[in-house]
Amino acid sequence: MLPSSVQTIVVLGGGSAGFMAALTLKRKLPNLKIRVVRSPDIGVIGVGEGTTVSFPRHFFEYLKLKPQQFYAETEPTWKLGIKFLWGPRKEFYYTFAYEYQHRYPELSRNNGFFYQHDQPYAGRISAFMAHDKAFTKRADGFPEFHNHHAFHIENQKLVGWLENVSRQFGVEVIDATVRPETGPQGITALITDSGERLTADLYIDASGFRSELLGRALNEPFLSFSDALFCDRAVIGGWPRTDEPIKPYTVAETMDAGWSWQIEHETWINRGYVYASNAISDDEALAELMRKNPRIANVPRVVKFRSGRYARNWVGNVVGIGNSVGFVEPLEATALQVICVEASTLADSLIDSLCAPTPSLVTLYNNYNAQAWDDIRDFLAVHYKFNTRLDTPFWQACRNDTKLHDAEFLVDFYKENGPSVVAGAQLLHSSNSFGMDGYLAMLIGQNVPHAKPFTPSTAEAKLWNDRCATWALEARRALDVKQCLDAMRRPAMKR
Ligand SMILES: Cc1cc2nc3c(=O)[nH]c(=O)nc-3n(C[C@H](O)[C@H](O)[C@H](O)COP(=O)(O)OP(=O)(O)OC[C@H]3O[C@@H](n4cnc5c(N)ncnc54)[C@H](O)[C@@H]3O)c2cc1C
Repeated sequence: MLPSSVQTIVVLGGGSAGFMAALTLKRKLPNLKIRVVRSPDIGVIGVGEGTTVSFPRHFFEYLKLKPQQFYAETEPTWKLGIKFLWGPRKEFYYTFAYEYQHRYPELSRNNGFFYQHDQPYAGRISAFMAHDKAFTKRADGFPEFHNHHAFHIENQKLVGWLENVSRQFGVEVIDATVRPETGPQGITALITDSGERLTADLYIDASGFRSELLGRALNEPFLSFSDALFCDRAVIGGWPRTDEPIKPYTVAETMDAGWSWQIEHETWINRGYVYASNAISDDEALAELMRKNPRIANVPRVVKFRSGRYARNWVGNVVGIGNSVGFVEPLEATALQVICVEASTLADSLIDSLCAPTPSLVTLYNNYNAQAWDDIRDFLAVHYKFNTRLDTPFWQACRNDTKLHDAEFLVDFYKENGPSVVAGAQLLHSSNSFGMDGYLAMLIGQNVPHAKPFTPSTAEAKLWNDRCATWALEARRALDVKQCLDAMRRPAMKR
């Protein structure tokens, strides 16, 4: 049953989801009494290192936190997007800057039409990525930050920072393993291992894959994404950075039975191979990862997962946030982005309802978050359906069998019309976080054929090449990640 008034909240789970939920709610509704209970025995997932632009927007714009403590405690590096080793091109870049749909005043069409097969970049930010640069240099030598960056962060450091800031704002943290007590109203208490009853008006299930409340206690149905996303495991390793430059992007590389990420931390390079266990064994996946990354220095560990989501996030007096509600592989590094959306929409719902949530509001909350999950499934499906880089049985199956669901019409539109943005907003609903540009990046990047190839006039081709040359020049003069980190640590640095 819905709580008639929400004054107290217990968050079950102290991973990134639990603390992001607690911090968001406490920051937006400071009068709420919020406690986080997390198990010292179960621990946090320990992976989850790439973010999207939603992450800085959530913390520094929506929650208005000061970035200084974040930088000092999480020691992030900057991520401008993803470099895909995917499809027939040598490489292509996915950015957060909406480059393919942009149209310059001197050109008759948007950039997507001008982007050539042998060109690694379609705009200023991807030109920076292609040159391994992050930001331009200000006149005083410091980086000029743009709004198209996200971060690479180690999960443990992220959780540590979230916990510290949560405590500063008055969130209480309890170390205990709990089990739920249920009654006709839903969850009635969380019972700690020492027998203490933790009660609240609203319970947030941030217990990770265990989904203690939403899944186990309330039996909410789980909707699998297995007709679109075939991978169900990852093997994760890494090595200490020596002389490798810090890349301003994540790499996503096609592998025999899945794909591999490379995530850049300042002193550590993190590599993980996401694969389908029905296409390759754990030992074979490990062997392929090691063969392609002989510098891996630790003992890689296997993480199992299932792709999908529970039917509803919010059921009675329980709201699920993070892995307890759903999971997809980190091909677009969307988990933390989803948590931002789940937490901020919950905070806004409580604010607007004066902490007395109504059934219609809860229905909207559930529809909105379900749509966000399904959008991610559909976008990732496009990555699998059209990747022609390898011809292994796994990739043949992906090309043949991946269901596109709601992306089907958009892909058909692209096949008929090319990278046209004429249909604009009609192809996607407004809350789709990837936007038409995200789809264009993947469809053009993978050379998905279409019926409207465009050959620019000599004059227009020159104008486009002039743009490309300008971006390249600017990129060559810009700062790389290491230079930016050094500059950030100088006492005179101001953001
Ligand atoms: C292979 C892989 C790669 C990933 N890469 C990325 C990425 O690049 N970018 C990204 O955004 N995300 C990524 N993720 C996802 C990301 O790691 C998680 O979504 C995110 O950290 C949220 O985790 P969580 O807080 O929901 O769960 P967890 O970190 O698992 O936390 C669960 C919490 O619940 C507590 N708990 C559970 N049961 C109990 C109990 N009975 N009593 C008390 N406490 C309990 C635990 O103690 C813990 O504190 C990746 C995930 C995987 C598997």
